[in-house]
Amino acid sequence: MSPLRIPYTNPLPPAIVFPKTASSVAGAIDAVAAFFSAPPSPFLQGVDVGKNGQTVFLTGAGISVASGLSDYRGENGTYVRNKTYRPTYYHEFVTRHESRKRYWARSFVGWPGLVKAKPNSTHRAIAELAAKGYISCVVTQNVDSFHPAAHPGLATIELHGFLRSVVCINCHNQLPRHEFQQALTRLNPAWADFLHEMLESGALDTNNREEQQRRGLKLNPDGDVDLPHAPYSHFRYPACPHCLAHPPVLKDGSRGLVETESDGAWASPSTAGILKPAVIMFGESTSPVVRTAAEEAIDDAGRLLVMGSSLATYSAWRLVERAHHRGMAIGIVNVGGVRNESRLFGELLGERYMQNHVRCDHKSEMVLPEVVSRLPPLV
Ligand SMILES: [Zn+2]
Repeated sequence: MSPLRIPYTNPLPPAIVFPKTASSVAGAIDAVAAFFSAPPSPFLQGVDVGKNGQTVFLTGAGISVASGLSDYRGENGTYVRNKTYRPTYYHEFVTRHESRKRYWARSFVGWPGLVKAKPNSTHRAIAELAAKGYISCVVTQNVDSFHPAAHPGLATIELHGFLRSVVCINCHNQLPRHEFQQALTRLNPAWADFLHEMLESGALDTNNREEQQRRGLKLNPDGDVDLPHAPYSHFRYPACPHCLAHPPVLKDGSRGLVETESDGAWASPSTAGILKPAVIMFGESTSPVVRTAAEEAIDDAGRLLVMGSSLATYSAWRLVERAHHRGMAIGIVNVGGVRNESRLFGELLGERYMQNHVRCDHKSEMVLPEVVSRLPPLV
């Protein structure tokens, strides 16, 4: 069975900093620069020697914090700041009209902040490092589309999909999220007025987080906000236009029913035409095609650098485990502990093995831009 995306909220052990000099920012910059410049790991198993000098990146929510998005687990992360936060699960979303109302209402208010948020110095450093010939591919858990925006010429594999589109769960057609936002605005005039007021007041300004928090609004990594007292029950969302025109055949062989109100809002007797964000929701299986592509990206490179991820999702941890079994050099730049890191950086692994590895407990934006400025072009 495909691994599910599930939130992992248990505490993690503290970071195992390696080498010890990487505990300071200056030491971490030296160590990460050395990681990129070192000869390929002598433990590396693989055939594609040509790319063994290159690095595959695996990134998570931590690198988008500097763009104004929240982390899941960081010092101000969603799980830390809001203990009652509970994402909408896939099975609830596909089976319950009420869940979809709640999800889309929160997403409707969160969207303008996400549109406004831009890639940051970490994404730009990745673009520059790729231009210098050091990176083979980026695999990301992030759904914010900052990677493809910052480095369109470097392949990005989006493990958990992306918020820039919505997709129909029946016919699988995609629509741009910004068009979907226009439909939500039209179907929910009172919410549109509320959103307009929030935008005018600056409460949704992602650069003004204190004001945002004062208003009780929190933009989560999945692009939604928490609206503790807003009534979701009247929120309305459109049906898939393709399924509305051509009702699909359901899995049991019956013809799906797609009914809308006169203005196009999905109506509850319907059994199909349900649009969802083009992200892997919590409790949803990851795509086998994307997973295979990510595994190939690991196998094509000689080093793996993890940034801004605690590897809490199983699909991300599995890629790192794969890299470890291949004998790849592994680097981790992440504030706070990482799932199973003692398996990667434990003292039992031996000095010669550890020589290829780096682990620092700093924010990526403190380290990577300076590293990139020091490294000479390889091509
Ligand atoms: Zn459809």
